[in-house]
Amino acid sequence: MGFDKIIGQKRAKSVLRSAVKFKRISHAYLFYGPRGVGKSMAALAFAQALNCLSPHDGEPCGVCASCLKIAGGNHPDVSRITPEGSSLKIKQIRDMQEKAYYKCYEGKIKVIIIDEAHLLTLEAANSLLRILEEPPGDTVFLLLVEDTQRLPDTIISRCRGVSFSPLADEAVKEILEEKGISIQVPLSLAYGSVQKAIDLNEDSSCRELVKETEEFLAEIQNHGYRELFSYAGHVEQKKEKIPLLLDYFDIVFRNRMLQLVVREKRGGSEKGTSAGEAFGYQACREALEEIGKTYYYLYNNANSRLALENLFIKLKKLSQKGVGPNG
Ligand SMILES: [Zn+2]
Repeated sequence: MGFDKIIGQKRAKSVLRSAVKFKRISHAYLFYGPRGVGKSMAALAFAQALNCLSPHDGEPCGVCASCLKIAGGNHPDVSRITPEGSSLKIKQIRDMQEKAYYKCYEGKIKVIIIDEAHLLTLEAANSLLRILEEPPGDTVFLLLVEDTQRLPDTIISRCRGVSFSPLADEAVKEILEEKGISIQVPLSLAYGSVQKAIDLNEDSSCRELVKETEEFLAEIQNHGYRELFSYAGHVEQKKEKIPLLLDYFDIVFRNRMLQLVVREKRGGSEKGTSAGEAFGYQACREALEEIGKTYYYLYNNANSRLALENLFIKLKKLSQKGVGPNG
């Protein structure tokens, strides 16, 4: 495995490599950033690097007995705690605590990975805090979390933070290709998370909604109010998917603006194929504002059907402005 197999995350990898290389290891690390961008792989690579029999420049060799055991999930000194049901429970922390104070079986440093640390119950978090306040020797805790705001400050302050950023669309694409997954939804909808891309792709109702919305938007100029209202009603049936629809619109209009800027710079006038083709630059800006307002209305529990109808009417009007420089 090793850090070099992780795509992107240059800064995080450099922090962890140099910690190993210069033997400046903290007792606890907080890996934070969106789901599916490499936190879990980095945790394993770090555990390998800390226990590797022949590390080089902070990188684990990947082939020694220790590296292989960690990659295979059966190293006695590397353990992982994942939520049981919807939370990380105090019993899990207590069981782990017992292990943390034993000596290493065969490795150099015990590594305890806590997945989705924001799901710690209050009691579990307090119990973990007491361990972090008096950390056992030769043990490194790796807390993995999407959003630090969901973790008590007292825990955050005991950990060295390592930030993981969303990946570029190209990097997500590369990883998916390596996994042999062909993606059928716009990659931008995954916001730089490989896991989100996979989830969206596996959910047939997401794929369907994206496809329907693409067709709806491409024809919005020609739709009458009846069609607009009927589509709003259709989407409203799948209420939990409305944010996806708004994300999709958001991406279409941002991409369309970019397309128009690039086209103007090149002096070309070739026709694009995006669903936002009927929209000019100014219309896209206004469309993005309307989408932003709709997010806000829905967040504040407005009637979703009305909010969607209103948005569709605005988008239709904007599409009729034409694509000229002021359109
Ligand atoms: Zn090794």
